[in-house]
Amino acid sequence: CGIVGYVGGQCALDVVLAGLKRLEYRGYDSAGAAVLADGGLAAAKKAGKLANLEKELAERPLPSGPTGIGHTRWATHGGPTDANAHPHLDNAGRVAVVHNGIIENFAGLRAELAERGHTLGSETDTEVVAHLLAEAFSSCGDLAESMRQVCRRLEGAFTLVAVHADDPDVVVGARRNSPLVVGVGDGEHFLASDVAAFIAHTREAIELGQDQVVELRRDGVTVTDFDGAPADVRAYHVDWDA
Ligand code: GLU
Repeated sequence: CGIVGYVGGQCALDVVLAGLKRLEYRGYDSAGAAVLADGGLAAAKKAGKLANLEKELAERPLPSGPTGIGHTRWATHGGPTDANAHPHLDNAGRVAVVHNGIIENFAGLRAELAERGHTLGSETDTEVVAHLLAEAFSSCGDLAESMRQVCRRLEGAFTLVAVHADDPDVVVGARRNSPLVVGVGDGEHFLASDVAAFIAHTREAIELGQDQVVELRRDGVTVTDFDGAPADVRAYHVDWDA
């Protein structure tokens, strides 16, 4: 339902949680976040309101790091439980992904992953993406390229945002039939399903087009289509009052 991603000089978790709050008005049943710190990935997720996630984070804090993603979920596949909340991780706990929309061909992909020895711990359509990204990354070593390879296999509507502990300065996103906007800051970049999530930080935005993948670093944004060809993007200034 709501998606936020961040890479920059601030504490990513603080930026992500504040962004998710700005998206609360859309309604949701669960919330979660993941951050990259100290060479690893740490995640927390809870069914219910953001307050439940904040309580969990107060009891079991995540480390502070410069790269993070977050999600408020409106369940379509699998009930609103802690296990089904996003982010979803691969079995090694190195990749985290959040997703809006529906991956129509998830059942076939789940069966295929199970055959290759993956253990899927949720009932969501989303979780397959974490496992597929982990497989792709282990052969190509590039998260944006991994996302392109995975997106070419997906059917349905999706906004996806992911991080990988082995590529800690990068957040990648992708979209098909579901919105995703980049916020351009000074030495920092944001990703969100809605500009409201980052309007407190920047009003310079880039709207991703259909079937595009974006790679975000502190100092740069690279957008391609699902085949890796450079893509035209629309940069604009958000001039409404937030
Ligand atoms: N289909 C996914 C799920 O049920 C994402 C739902 C959403 O858009 O929040 O977990």
